[in-house]
Amino acid sequence: MKKIVINGKEEKFNIGKIVCVGRNYAKHAHELGNDVPKEPMLFLKTSSCVINSGEQVEHPSYSENLHYEVELVLLIGSTLKDANDKQARNAVTAYGVGLDMTLRDLQNELKTKGSPWTTAKVFDTSAVLGDFVSGDNYELKGNERIWLSVNGEMKQNSFLNNMIFNIPTLIKYISSRMTLEPGDLIFTGTPEGVGRVISGDKLEGGIQGIGKVTTTIK
Ligand code: MG
Repeated sequence: MKKIVINGKEEKFNIGKIVCVGRNYAKHAHELGNDVPKEPMLFLKTSSCVINSGEQVEHPSYSENLHYEVELVLLIGSTLKDANDKQARNAVTAYGVGLDMTLRDLQNELKTKGSPWTTAKVFDTSAVLGDFVSGDNYELKGNERIWLSVNGEMKQNSFLNNMIFNIPTLIKYISSRMTLEPGDLIFTGTPEGVGRVISGDKLEGGIQGIGKVTTTIK
């Protein structure tokens, strides 16, 4: 069981699969030298990656380039297969803010080889979950600001409506490829401004209307 803080209250969840969307903001795709995808690009993390806001990210010894990515995270509340528009709109139990920590050097190496990104994205402490608000309490407008600072300096600063694929589109697409189940999480992609962090760095991210996520690098 993992802990998720929803509306300021800790709740226990069996987190299922964590579906992550890559290159969902055009400027971020470009900053890493990638084209904008024609359909959502997906990869997975595991529930063993999850830590909560305030806990430390452990820097793996086998990487020299640990990156932050602040993202809107969706907590799925129903079973969805080939969701229609209405099902996709009603599928989100809570909206949250999270960090998709990434080993950029490994990812680049794996990309070059045409190998899966697994070891660049899946390591203990690589999915940091911050505040969530329940879908009953908050209607996402879509134009909320999303930001992240490192040691007080703003690094990522964008708006959710810069996403290439919006939330219903992502949920419909993902559920056409794999059944979504209660307790699954979707990391919806990061805006531009990603970068390296080292031991001792203090990260603070947030989404307007939803809340914050904080961590330090061990
Ligand atoms: Mg990401």
